[in-house]
Amino acid sequence: MSLKISSALISVYYKDGLEPLVRLLHEQNVKLYSTGGTQTFIEQLGIPVTPVEDLTGYPSIFGGRVKTLHPAVMGGILYRRELPEDLAQAERHRIPPIDLVVVDLYPFEETVASGASDEDVIEKIDIGGISLIRAAAKNYNDVLIVSSRSQYAEVVTLLNEKNGATDLADRRQYARKAFGVTSYYDTAIQAYFSSEADVVSGQQKEATGDIADFRKLPANHLRYGENPHQQATFYGDLDAMFEKLHGKELSYNNLVDVDACVNLIDEFRNANGAAFAIIKHTNACGIATASSGKEAYLNALACDPVSAFGGVVITNTPVNLETAEELNKLFMEILIAPDYAPEALDVLKSKKNRILLKRKAVALPSVMFKTILNGVLEQDKDDQTETADQFKTATIKEPSASELRALEFALKVCKHTKSNTIVLAKENQLLASGVGQTSRVDALRQAIEKANSFGFDLKGAVMASDAFFPFPDCVEIADQAGITAVVQPGGSIRDQDSIDYCNQHGLSMVTTGVRHFKH
Ligand code: 5GP
Repeated sequence: MSLKISSALISVYYKDGLEPLVRLLHEQNVKLYSTGGTQTFIEQLGIPVTPVEDLTGYPSIFGGRVKTLHPAVMGGILYRRELPEDLAQAERHRIPPIDLVVVDLYPFEETVASGASDEDVIEKIDIGGISLIRAAAKNYNDVLIVSSRSQYAEVVTLLNEKNGATDLADRRQYARKAFGVTSYYDTAIQAYFSSEADVVSGQQKEATGDIADFRKLPANHLRYGENPHQQATFYGDLDAMFEKLHGKELSYNNLVDVDACVNLIDEFRNANGAAFAIIKHTNACGIATASSGKEAYLNALACDPVSAFGGVVITNTPVNLETAEELNKLFMEILIAPDYAPEALDVLKSKKNRILLKRKAVALPSVMFKTILNGVLEQDKDDQTETADQFKTATIKEPSASELRALEFALKVCKHTKSNTIVLAKENQLLASGVGQTSRVDALRQAIEKANSFGFDLKGAVMASDAFFPFPDCVEIADQAGITAVVQPGGSIRDQDSIDYCNQHGLSMVTTGVRHFKH
């Protein structure tokens, strides 16, 4: 049923990107209600807005902990417009309808990532915002819910197209997204409390038991294994991790690459902006971060457009139309994203076999198993990533701020690349890597040759190594290629030879003390 929006409650943490939506709603004669900061933002645009306090008769109390939690607000969202009893009650209690709810939650994950105190983190658990989202999503029959700032632009398009009205199918689709937002949010909160519990009690991490007893997990028979003559089964619940939106069945090799993708992109979960990675045979043949998804994708692709053919692509950001149009030009096996704009999905579905996965926010097990000889190896996942504040400068020269960012980037990729590996990068882009080589020199030579063949100038680029340099030959070759900064674990008895070379040739080198083999 098509419904015209007559009133909206807007309560958002980040105000950027909100203006076009507010202006459109105003033009479409929608009555606006809002909370403190958002109200000020709307007033500054010169648009009339009613404070939510006028609706509740209550001020915002307890430092903002209670702003919208009130029957006048929840009732206005939840009452069933087609039920005479509900209508009568709304009238009796003077509860006006709220047809659209726009919320952007307190940034819980970002607050945790910033290293804020426990008290600050707890204060960033959104209560009213979550309740607004859940209430509006529950009553999608009558109410449209916009549950994240990533949806502002697409909702503007929708309301423009439909003249300020929405169909039931639209509202249900946004309700689905909304429950995705709330479950992701609560999962992040639970993860915060769980990691604390692990530290406090030294408990085994939760998922271990399930995985160790893997034959009790759902069995998915695969068409074949790594090669067609090998039979194979995946034990696990793929539906818990992904919503499959399009395409054929995942194969054994697909699953292995999807796993590599997910682990790599999670290194960039706190990245500012969008990240895109392209994986081939578990190694990244391209990865980049940028302010827009399209730019991140194009920079990832530029790294090695030849290998990208038939690759598995992953992003940490919802895919919009302009990015989808670029992605559509690539023959890829699989695309994984947290969400897709409806029009992006239409474009991407044009290839029958292309697998489109929407990733759900599910924590992954923290252990790994591998069969060897007549037994099984178990180990903790390599879930440690060193950041610039943990780097120790070994050379006279310190890396510049931009080189430090590039070194962090390179190290993240290095960790997820098959040993022996050397990764060459700049601040936001992988330039080339040498993967799975039997010597680090071979890995470096491979990386330099690849970078050159795709037209990258390595002057000012940085180098990351998964393990220490046993000889100074790598820094020498890197220097000759134009590389200016290096990150490596350190710990070789001949470390000083590499450090001396760097000092004599004006390179900077930082050590991490942590090796990241991946076999
Ligand atoms: P504003 O900047 O408009 O003052 O606040 C917007 C933020 O408040 C949004 O992130 C929204 O999710 C959150 N919010 C709305 N109502 C409540 C409430 O009753 N309690 C809490 N803790 N947060 C709320």
